[in-house]
Amino acid sequence: MSIQVKNLTKEYNQQRAVNQISLTVQPGEIVGFLGPNGAGKSTTMKIATGYLPPTDGTVEVNGFDVRTNPMDVRKSVGYLPEHNPLYLDLYVKEYLRFSGSLHGLRSDELGKRISETIELVGLGREQHKRISQLSKGYRQRVGLAQALLHNPPVLILDEPTTGLDPNQLAEIRQVIRDAGRNKTVLFSTHIMQEVEAVCDRVVIINRGQIVADSPLSQLRSSSASNAIVVVAEFENDLPQPAILSAIQGVDSIEPLGKGQYRIKAGPTVDLRAAIFRLAADQNLTLVGLRQQENSLEGIFKELTK
Ligand code: ADP
Ligand code: MG
Repeated sequence: MSIQVKNLTKEYNQQRAVNQISLTVQPGEIVGFLGPNGAGKSTTMKIATGYLPPTDGTVEVNGFDVRTNPMDVRKSVGYLPEHNPLYLDLYVKEYLRFSGSLHGLRSDELGKRISETIELVGLGREQHKRISQLSKGYRQRVGLAQALLHNPPVLILDEPTTGLDPNQLAEIRQVIRDAGRNKTVLFSTHIMQEVEAVCDRVVIINRGQIVADSPLSQLRSSSASNAIVVVAEFENDLPQPAILSAIQGVDSIEPLGKGQYRIKAGPTVDLRAAIFRLAADQNLTLVGLRQQENSLEGIFKELTK
């Protein structure tokens, strides 16, 4: 098993940032680690890369325990930290030589690995520049190259696409997919679409606890997210919005203003037809009716509110 987190807890002073979480990433899997800011993603990743000790629980990477075998963990992992700290004054290759030497690569193999990695992350045309001269997207590629240099079986990438423009975003996602082809990848993001674009599976963390861990397809069809949501718009505000709850299966009614109501019902209800009939019966002028898509974004919001 490539990454195995068991009952991991991390406390900073009195604050519990990660609370008894367990998760597993199988060899070859690309797993998205999703959660709002402050959820505990970076903390978990720093522990899994051996940069921060756990307060309680265990983390094994590539079979090595982060407590007892931190050096083997670091050899097994390519890590792109949040905010990708780079030495801006260095030239790209100079920086990669420096990173490689930290990983203990010998100078003869290092040159070869640097060329291969530059190729892999698409840095070819920028390889002779100083890092300070590169765009954010290319700086991320340097960060990814640094993580890949020692050819680790596991990649841990902390928000690798945050702050990129849409073109750079698509390119970096592609690099992650390419680089992840023969590797185990755990990468964090707070964007659901990102997970859809890159991952096999998603683990969602909120306030230090895991609130979902499943393949995307399964998350989409999970019962909590299967509710039907319709926005009905009437010509005027309803004198008694509660009459909508007379419709069988309706769970909640939320006024949105200007005669609009968001109505939620269980998965088996034909809500639109029922609203239409109710409006006709009650002589209410219905001017709009639309069903809201049950997007993964919505599911994420639901799970992390
Ligand atoms: P995420 O990466 O999901 O945004 P973090 O793991 O960075 O979340 O943070 C989780 C919680 O731990 C937050 O409340 C954060 O303020 C707190 N935290 C993170 N690092 C430290 C630290 N070095 N000292 C104290 N509190 C921290
Ligand atoms: Mg973070």
